[in-house]
Amino acid sequence: MTRSTDKIEELIALMARLPGLGPRSARRAVLHLIRKRGLLLTPLADSMKEVAETARECLNCGNVGTSDICEICEDERRANGELCVVEDVADLWAMERAGVFKGRYHVLGGTLSALDGVGPDELRIPQLVNRIQAEQISEVILALNATIDGQTTVHYIADQLEGRVEMTSLAQGVPIGGELDYLDDGTISAAMAARKKL
Ligand SMILES: [Zn+2]
Repeated sequence: MTRSTDKIEELIALMARLPGLGPRSARRAVLHLIRKRGLLLTPLADSMKEVAETARECLNCGNVGTSDICEICEDERRANGELCVVEDVADLWAMERAGVFKGRYHVLGGTLSALDGVGPDELRIPQLVNRIQAEQISEVILALNATIDGQTTVHYIADQLEGRVEMTSLAQGVPIGGELDYLDDGTISAAMAARKKL
C-alpha cells in the first residue's frame, strides 16, 4: 500500500466514526468526495477547518456557535421571561427549526444517569438555577426527551426550582422514548402548544 492510500484509509477511518456512518458508507462517502474534489471535497475541508478553529459553546446557554455568547442569548427580543431547557444542542436546533419558541434556551449537556455516573454537577444545572434570577425568568419549559433518564432529570430540576418559577413540560406528541431531534416540526409545535404545568 502506498503512502497516499494510507492517507485515504485514514480519512475513511475518521469518517466511519461519525454518527450514522459505518465503514461501508464512510468508504462510499470518501470516494464520492474524491470524485467531486473541486465541488465538494475542497470546500468541505475549508469549511471544517474554519469550524474547527471557531466553534465554541455559548458561556450562557451551552448552544454551539462561533462566539462566546450565542446569537439567541445576544438577542434582546428573546428575553421574554421564557426559558426552554433541553438535553442537547441538537434539541435546541430542532426547536429553532420548528420556529415555535421565542424565548431563550438552556442546554443541560445530557441527563442525570445513575448508570453512567452523571450527577447534577456534570450537567449545567447550577447555571440553570442562577439564570432564573439573573434573567428574571417567569416560566421554565422542560423540553427533555421522553426517556427514563430524561424524565428523572425533569423531576430533579422541578424539585430544585420548586416555588421559584412556573414550570411546564412538553405535552403529548412526544412519543415515549422519543428524542426531539427526530421529531418533525409539526410534532414539536403540538407538544409545545399543549405543554402542561408541573
Ligand atoms: Zn447562548
